[in-house]
Amino acid sequence: MRRLQNYVDGRWVDVQCEGAVPVYNPATGEVIAETPLSTHADVARAVEGAKRAFASWSRVPVVKRARVVFDFLATLKAERDHIARMITTEHGKSYADAQAEVDRGIEGIEHALSAPTLMMGESLAEVSEGLEQTYYRYPLGVVASITPFNFPAMIPLWVMGWAVVTGNALILKPSEQTPTTTLRLVEMFHEAGLPPGVLQAVNGGKEAVDAILSHPDIVAVNFTGSTKTAAYVYETAARHHKRVQAFAGAKNHAIVLEDAVLEPTVDGILRAAFHNGGQRCMATSVVVAVGSIADEVVERLAEGARRMKIGHGFEEGVDVTPLIRREHRDRVRAYVDEAAMSARLVVDGRPAIEEHPEGFYLGPCLLDGVTPEMRVWQEELFGPVLSVVRARDLDEAIAIANRSRYANGAILYTQSGKAAQVFRDRIDAGMVGINVNVPLPVAFFPFGGHKDSFYGVTGENGKELVQFFTRKKVVSTRWF
Ligand code: NAD
Repeated sequence: MRRLQNYVDGRWVDVQCEGAVPVYNPATGEVIAETPLSTHADVARAVEGAKRAFASWSRVPVVKRARVVFDFLATLKAERDHIARMITTEHGKSYADAQAEVDRGIEGIEHALSAPTLMMGESLAEVSEGLEQTYYRYPLGVVASITPFNFPAMIPLWVMGWAVVTGNALILKPSEQTPTTTLRLVEMFHEAGLPPGVLQAVNGGKEAVDAILSHPDIVAVNFTGSTKTAAYVYETAARHHKRVQAFAGAKNHAIVLEDAVLEPTVDGILRAAFHNGGQRCMATSVVVAVGSIADEVVERLAEGARRMKIGHGFEEGVDVTPLIRREHRDRVRAYVDEAAMSARLVVDGRPAIEEHPEGFYLGPCLLDGVTPEMRVWQEELFGPVLSVVRARDLDEAIAIANRSRYANGAILYTQSGKAAQVFRDRIDAGMVGINVNVPLPVAFFPFGGHKDSFYGVTGENGKELVQFFTRKKVVSTRWF
């Protein structure tokens, strides 16, 4: 079995501890690698190297740092399909979705080339007579990023480009469930000329995270994952006086009004709910069907869900791919079993478990008559399960969506500009779509949710990450 290694000081190194967890191909159930579980000592070794690298990297002019990112971009584009194949193999998502993921990651790296402009400070020549003030941005030092399983290329790329181009040294801990893609990206960055130690990849699980959170020389932590872990990371990092932001879980609502154009609406909802097995923080997991249109919406969603093709990620035209682990699939199935006792299970995806015993499959499940009192509405399932809640009007629909503890994305389907305005102003969500099924901000717009979907102040992407990964120094100058 291929045992993965950490990437430290520009080379692959063994993890000291024997402990490891398997990496699966979710489509076949086969174990394809083993992720070693780094200890405090492994993390400390990576931090030592990063501190040394920071001393010189932070003094390389930002324009030269951006040139290394530029060279990385070229290799990324050349290896785009290879990276996508790695994603599909260890995550299970369709090859088309994996390619789209790499493309979104590439956009993040492209935007990181704007660092010389975005790192500029500001000046005022005469704050008072003969006195000028200027603020400059400086890198923080050794920073860390902890990433989730569901975007093993896009999220690490977003973070690593900005962390490094702003002059920091980054300790990156990929998900132990999908590490091979991320590790290859780290290696590629070095092949493009990144100096050893500037980007250190440390494999592992809770112990590695705890080592990062408590290490006195790591000054900032950027986290993405489930809300439970995000809360733990946010609180623990803050207790150790680190700068921290944590992107967390979601329960995204799509409201369908009576004037919605049903064909693209239903098509968009089906893709947002079921592609990637529903394992996206921007997936739609609840439809709020408003007024007299509800029956037709449910009927069309059911027809579409039944037509969806279940299969492995390399199959042509596949819609619903396997879940990340057998235990996770069984957990999602248990939610469906429970919900089916109080709501109407219109489309039952559970037979796919027996029809595809080779992997961790669950077919699309559609529930009608769901209410906010049910667990299936309240909790993030991270699986191919779509709940329909019925509402009288837009006000009630918005009130239902706003009752959720999560507030990542929300979508309105309508032809009414007025309704869209009301929705935009009253919905509590960080990323809002009007007839857009996955309202993912492009690389130069801020990314992040509200409430239990995000703990922090700034956000992901461009200016937000420049702010997160730099600190300001205000200089007052007078000449006699
Ligand atoms: P997860 O919380 O299980 O793991 C995320 C990271 O935390 C991994 O690197 C993991 O090793 C580490 N970790 C796990 N348990 C830990 C513990 N007890 N203590 C310390 N560290 C721990 O999340 P996941 O299952 O990998 O990813 C899916 C989740 O991420 C979903 O909830 C999804 O909504 C969320 N997500 C959010 C966004 C966003 O931007 N808001 C983006 C992608 C994924």
